[in-house]
Amino acid sequence: MGRIVQKYGGSSVATIEKIIRVAERIKRTAKEGHEMVVVVSAMGDTTDELLGMAKSISLNPDKRELDMLLTTGEQVSSALLAMALQETGEKAVSLTGWQAGIRTESVHGNARILQIDTKRIEEELAEGKIVVVTGFQGVTEAGEITALGRGGSDTTAVALAAALHADRCEIYTDVTGVFTSDPRWIKKARKLPAVSYDEMIEMAHLGAQVLHPRSVEFAKNFRVPLVVRSSMSDEEGTWIVEEEKMEKNLIVRGVAFEKNITRITVHGLPDVMENLSAIFTGLARENVDVDIIIQNVSGETENQVSFSVKDDQLNDALAVLEKLRGELGFKNVEWESGLAKVSIVGSGMVSNPGVAAKMFSTLAENGIFIKMISTSEIKISVVVDEEQMIRAAETLHQAFGLDRAEREVKTK
Ligand code: ADP
Ligand code: ASP
Ligand code: MG
Repeated sequence: MGRIVQKYGGSSVATIEKIIRVAERIKRTAKEGHEMVVVVSAMGDTTDELLGMAKSISLNPDKRELDMLLTTGEQVSSALLAMALQETGEKAVSLTGWQAGIRTESVHGNARILQIDTKRIEEELAEGKIVVVTGFQGVTEAGEITALGRGGSDTTAVALAAALHADRCEIYTDVTGVFTSDPRWIKKARKLPAVSYDEMIEMAHLGAQVLHPRSVEFAKNFRVPLVVRSSMSDEEGTWIVEEEKMEKNLIVRGVAFEKNITRITVHGLPDVMENLSAIFTGLARENVDVDIIIQNVSGETENQVSFSVKDDQLNDALAVLEKLRGELGFKNVEWESGLAKVSIVGSGMVSNPGVAAKMFSTLAENGIFIKMISTSEIKISVVVDEEQMIRAAETLHQAFGLDRAEREVKTK
């Protein structure tokens, strides 16, 4: 007998019929004798719809109230799933983040889980119940409800698996596993049998929506065996593991991409060294997540620093800069939205020089202009125009040999 945490995403619980089907799947695993904790997302597009309602009232809704609103979606799906389980004859109970003891930091919109008090869940499990927990939410020390950020139910699941010492955490979604790139857009993407924690962390941070980045960080830190699989079939999924050998002749594991990037440039910055710190301290204080930073020092008036943020943080970033303008005396601020980031990820890159050169020449040959670049040991990212994002991803997917299926057909 083991202990298993399963998580079902929005598309897996989008309708009542799907919730009933999920209940049957959970019952099958429970009947094997396992203790089960199940995390659910809101039904279908509920979170987007709730967000739409808020935005129809205010362009900049209060962050606390937004969390109150968005976290209701998971309360609906968890209660319905508990009912569906009871209807199959199983004992089940639904718990909110607060009832499940999920304590977060006191930040609205994107809170981190600090600690989980598993007492209540343990008690319910001891009574033989299947425990259904709302994903995506927690509570602060002061009793405020917080949301964990879009896609955050994955993190609820893995954090619970770690806290409950579960044997494994299974993420059920609308694809059969982690692919070499987003199969919705990149037709030749292939399912990977396994991917390392570090590669998956990078891919998730760089836009591979299939797992929330913090969920993989939890899995790595607490050594949680993690698998991504389909809620519609019994096909083997993708395991996220400590280390995974590269496939023969490949140096890249996957291509990730994301839209809604804005580049902000501060022109005419005096005393670059001191002022850089003032700018980025100010941005951090307002929880503005800065990604790529490029500075260009070429004399007092031309000194400039550019950085990228997500579109939805543009206003926060501009407000910080506006406040600092008098103190720092820079000339002006410019920004460009409608950008995208395309990245190649793979642990094979560390020991292979020339990967960046190949990436840049592939993009140049395809007329794709690079606006920003950033690298780490296992990834290279470029910022390009949004309209060129999919073509950039496709050409890189092919250039680095990830379209394996096509090559096999060609050599026959
Ligand atoms: P859920 O609602 O189950 O949490 P998500 O929509 O958050 O599901 O994540 C699944 C989606 O992630 C897939 O439908 C797919 O389009 C997208 N995706 C992006 N990159 C990848 C990738 N590398 N492998 C698999 N899916 C990916
Ligand atoms: N319902 C939330 C969202 O749509 C959380 C999740 O699905 O993981 O972002
Ligand atoms: Mg998701």
